[in-house]
Amino acid sequence: MIRKFIEKVFSRRKSGSLVGTLPKGPEMIAVSGHGVRNSGISTCARRVTDTLQAQGFKAYVVGGAVRDLILARTPKDFDVATSATPEQVHALFRRSRIIGRRFRLVHVMCGPETVEVSTFRALQSGAGDDDQVKDEHGRLLRDNVFGSEADDALRRDFTVNALYYDPSTETILDYCGGVHDLGVRTLRMIGDPGERYREDPVRMLRAVRLAAKLGLEIDPGTYAPIREMAPLLQNVPAARLFEEMLKLLLSGHSVACVEQLRGAGLHHGLLPFLDVILEQPQGERFVTLALQRTDERILSDRSVSPGFLFAALLWHEVLAAWRLAQERNVPPVPALHEAMDQVLSVQAEKIAIPRRFGTDMKEIWMLQWRLDQRTGKRAYRVLENPKFRAGYDFLILRCESGEVDAELGDWWTRFQDAPEAQREEMIASQPGSAPARRRRRRGGARRAAVDSGSTGVPPVEPV
Ligand code: ATP
Ligand code: MG
Repeated sequence: MIRKFIEKVFSRRKSGSLVGTLPKGPEMIAVSGHGVRNSGISTCARRVTDTLQAQGFKAYVVGGAVRDLILARTPKDFDVATSATPEQVHALFRRSRIIGRRFRLVHVMCGPETVEVSTFRALQSGAGDDDQVKDEHGRLLRDNVFGSEADDALRRDFTVNALYYDPSTETILDYCGGVHDLGVRTLRMIGDPGERYREDPVRMLRAVRLAAKLGLEIDPGTYAPIREMAPLLQNVPAARLFEEMLKLLLSGHSVACVEQLRGAGLHHGLLPFLDVILEQPQGERFVTLALQRTDERILSDRSVSPGFLFAALLWHEVLAAWRLAQERNVPPVPALHEAMDQVLSVQAEKIAIPRRFGTDMKEIWMLQWRLDQRTGKRAYRVLENPKFRAGYDFLILRCESGEVDAELGDWWTRFQDAPEAQREEMIASQPGSAPARRRRRRGGARRAAVDSGSTGVPPVEPV
């Protein structure tokens, strides 16, 4: 249906060359041309648009939600764009608050749902207007200039994200040919792609993520400048990069995204861990496996922990640093601490990993050492660790990737569910468990394992 409509309406018009020109007016697309019924709009978003419209303001559902509904996907959340100022919106909703420094937005809460309401904004400000400030690379630092509905469409990133849906009439206002582009499965930048990436380099990551998530082809003109402009990502604040990386990795399509990142040359420099890891076969296997598992969990609505994911992405870096520290004769546990701190501080310069994730990551990494210590009371203590489950899942991934012997993972799989007597037996059958000979045999067993490469854990001193 969409295709038929497109042929009729959009054969007259080509999008993608809108830079600097305001479109004459939007295409008004009735429900027969896009198929989105207002029953697909959340109660909260509907309440917001109805209330604003009743007060004489313009109000539409915009962005990802409209795009997802046209593609018959369930939107993650709903955004509303309006002609009302943040203060006017705030005054209309008891449970709302104004947020944001760069963009001032209003969050309207209804029950558990939050709808983000933004005032129409413009990309271009008038001469001498200092509300739009750029850095020396052309990156927009502030662009909180209010504008018309048409301005608001043009300042958005991709044509498929610039669709305005009015739930009261079930009509879409399409300024940039987004419905057409969805019909032909194309992700196209609004305006001049190079200029738009310069204004906000994160749009390069958004292109990769949205294309992978929605199964769209990136239009050649939109794709072409990315390789050359990739270094601009270096100027993006680390916290914003982290946020975007997290979205990308938790999109449910992280394997495809990472492939696209590599293809577009976006992993170089930007993500040192991907750079290094994806080039070593074992590291690549481990990371790909971790990403696959994350995608599977997300697509089946199970929870994922960002700490676990980042711990996996950086694990081979930690392993390498741990090994180096031990080669300098630092004992294993301090060497592991040193390695973890070093890897995290390098990452902090690029991507600000929030402290709470850093703590989780360290616990998971530390458990990798402790899970390899199965003698005496140690195995029981590990079992009581609140992060045991994450540490164990991580170990299983390592086994599956071939980094450590499957025996270690199997042992823990059996041990956690075994009755007490069997647990004792399992511990007793560990090399080096007999107390009298413990010290000598432990060291010997450990060295033998390391020499044969069976555990994958770096060489360690007997403890
Ligand atoms: P998702 O499904 O991940 O939420 P989304 O497109 O809705 O995708 P949001 O980050 O929620 O992404 O942004 C909402 C809308 O704001 C987008 O659809 C787009 O119109 C606009 N937008 C977001 N980021 C940018 C950007 N960097 N440059 C221009 N417009 C943007
Ligand atoms: Mg969204």
